[in-house]
Amino acid sequence: MSQPNVPFPQSPVVPKMVDGSHVIQFSCHKGIGCWNACCANIDISLTPYDILRLKKRLELSSAEFLTKYTFPYELDKDDIAGVKFRPVEGGTACQFMTPEGCSVYEDRPTACRYYPVALLSMRKEGENFDTASYALVQEDHCKGHAVQRSLTIDEYRKEQGIDQYDELARGWRQLVLKKKSSGPTIGKPSLKSRQLFFMACYNLDQFRAFVASDAFGELFALPVEEREKIVGDDVELMQFGFRFLRQVLFGEDSIPLNDAAAKERAEKVREKHLKAEREAAERLARAEDGDYPFEDD
Ligand code: SF4
Ligand code: SF4
Repeated sequence: MSQPNVPFPQSPVVPKMVDGSHVIQFSCHKGIGCWNACCANIDISLTPYDILRLKKRLELSSAEFLTKYTFPYELDKDDIAGVKFRPVEGGTACQFMTPEGCSVYEDRPTACRYYPVALLSMRKEGENFDTASYALVQEDHCKGHAVQRSLTIDEYRKEQGIDQYDELARGWRQLVLKKKSSGPTIGKPSLKSRQLFFMACYNLDQFRAFVASDAFGELFALPVEEREKIVGDDVELMQFGFRFLRQVLFGEDSIPLNDAAAKERAEKVREKHLKAEREAAERLARAEDGDYPFEDD
């Protein structure tokens, strides 16, 4: 089962974008000749909400879940990380595949719910919202397409319980789309920003400890009740993470800073500028003495 991003002609993705009213012919059920074929060769990206559901079901911390069941990959050219399912040791099958089917069915990830439909989230230039289009994935081994059952993609999404999954991953998709479409105006995020992105999106328990820390409280002006609500609920925490990352990655004022912290931060920025100016002046002075002005020190 693969989760392509775009419908390339050589891929099993039918190169045609459709909307939710498009009618598909498909049914998957135990006993079908290709049972489990899709889960035997996986390439599945996970959303933060997928991870939240699975770590809760398996009663693992997010770090334990990430280590055992996933590996990171580059989501975009600027090293923003995504997370994919790690297949079984030495093989290609999903670790949750059993002869009876999916062992985490009620909490299976978004990509598994969508299959054989692919979600194509897009953001038009100049627009602040994303639009969902879909494509159909037609793999030779999947006999589900030959079953006589017709329904629209919207009906299929409802049947598979996708609405909630999409809604709760929306903030994350928007961050990724905005990052991809912002190009050089935003630039490559620093290593620290990329680490914060990974923690807030995927390593939720570590992010909880960060939000609960004294250092966080000293920097951000969050009312105590709001902070307690965020720290006490996984979904609230995940949504807060997306808000936090809008500030980290795009400089939005999404979380107010404490006065003292805001002043300190402004002072640090001022010192940084002064230092840069001083260094430039020193280089220029050396150049007047005969050195090459842009030589590395
Ligand atoms: S999570 Fe379940 S449905 Fe998804 S690939 Fe694994 S076994 Fe298949
Ligand atoms: S019909 Fe398709 S989705 Fe269902 S088990 Fe077969 S390969 Fe997988």
